Amino acid sequence: MLKSNTDFESIGFQLNSSYSSLPKKLYTLMQPEKVTKSSLVVFNDALAMQLGLNFSKISDQDKAAIFSGMLRIPSSNPLAQAYAGHQFGRFTYLGDGRALLLAEHMTPDHKLIDIQLKGSGPTPYSRGGDGLAALGPMLREYLISEAMAALNILTTRSLAVVLTHQKVKRQVELDGAVLTRIAQSHIRVGTFQYAIAEGGLETLKALADYTIQRHYPHINEENRYLGLLNEVIKAQAELIAQWQLTGFVHGVMNTDNMAISGETIDYGPCAFLDVYEPKTVFSSIDYSGRYAYVNQPAIAAWNLARFAETLLPILNKDQFLAQTLAQNAVETFLPQFKDEFLKGMRKKLGLFNIESNDETLIEELLSIMQKVKADYNKTFVNLALDLDSFRINPTYNAWLEKYELRRSKQKETFAESVELMKRVNPSIIPRNHLVEQALLQASEHQDLSLFEHLLDLVRQPFAYMDEQLYLDQPDLQSSKPYRTYCGT
Ligand code: AMP
Ligand code: MG
Repeated sequence: MLKSNTDFESIGFQLNSSYSSLPKKLYTLMQPEKVTKSSLVVFNDALAMQLGLNFSKISDQDKAAIFSGMLRIPSSNPLAQAYAGHQFGRFTYLGDGRALLLAEHMTPDHKLIDIQLKGSGPTPYSRGGDGLAALGPMLREYLISEAMAALNILTTRSLAVVLTHQKVKRQVELDGAVLTRIAQSHIRVGTFQYAIAEGGLETLKALADYTIQRHYPHINEENRYLGLLNEVIKAQAELIAQWQLTGFVHGVMNTDNMAISGETIDYGPCAFLDVYEPKTVFSSIDYSGRYAYVNQPAIAAWNLARFAETLLPILNKDQFLAQTLAQNAVETFLPQFKDEFLKGMRKKLGLFNIESNDETLIEELLSIMQKVKADYNKTFVNLALDLDSFRINPTYNAWLEKYELRRSKQKETFAESVELMKRVNPSIIPRNHLVEQALLQASEHQDLSLFEHLLDLVRQPFAYMDEQLYLDQPDLQSSKPYRTYCGT
């Protein structure tokens, strides 16, 4: 146990309780469920350092006690946040059913961040759920969110995973765990949906003002709320373009899983494409393919339309005008997404300048990749490292000729083009079968060696180490499509 407050002081928490200044309808103040025993599984020292937190004087046992909720951070005011959301298109009241905002912390570069515990026990928003989480899925979030951050994709981060030594009942009994999640905030589209539906106009306005101050303080449009809508649309256009460029499938893009900050949030049934098949769905419960890879931009636009609807009462007194403003703003999402996507694709192909036929060149490549069932990530790596490997497949011939001509016409050298490609095309992504193997070893055999090794590799995705290139292959043995599960 920690002996005195001095130890806490050495960590350097700069606590804040800004969320609790919002209308009370938006949260419930409460403490995490008491666990009696906890032990540290992983801790993100590099992230702690970035956040200005120094744990060098804190033992692993005490870290586990802090990040399981056993030991209270002095002067913190934990709370569960209320929110709603369209889940697979249906509106539902939700909220932190198994999470708590443990504290807000001001980093040395004056960024306010949320420290959230996930799996810390039931809350008033648990809706009959046990409020708990199992080790495997929490390690999964840790691994994938760290990989995303290294891939330069905006995301929530993971600070720690702690075992609670409680059993969690799912289909079988599993080891209980708590993940510490770091986010710019946990305000979601669903938080706005909740604010207007439950709290009304004043609550909505307070939330919108708070969000602007916290995330988009530079907004200087006369209509601040339209400014907020535009910023969120821009942030999502950039984010979803990054997902598509990397072959990331979120899997459960409900409006409660879309962060207003533009961070990727909630790593449930997510996974990365192996074969380039746009209709790919990994989630075991996504029967209609609503959240398939190809649908992600359109779903984001749909979610943003729901966000815009919540803002209507404050966009303009004239509701007809408010609707026009909202609609015009939401309509800019897909063109912005497309611009970002094309910009990113040019880089993936080693192209520096813009030419009018680029879109066709990209579409043709993707269509061949789909036809020949090419591995998504490997294709771009090979375009950088091994162009000859495409010559043996006649399906690529005509395209390859156009592509090589296009690349040779730019003023940059071939070597510069390859360098550009290696900066954006990862030499390793968290391949589904590797992730599964690592999690299985960790959760069933208490052996973290594979997990830590994979974590190390996906944290340097542009290192182009031989081992990464070797491991970055789909599971060639498996004949079954990959499936992921939520809420576990
Ligand atoms: P998710 O699919 O993780 O986005 O969760 C959707 C909603 O279900 C959120 O309100 C979660 O807090 C809640 N939830 C998920 N798992 C549990 C659980 N085991 N106990 C209580 N609530 C949960
Ligand atoms: Mg969620």
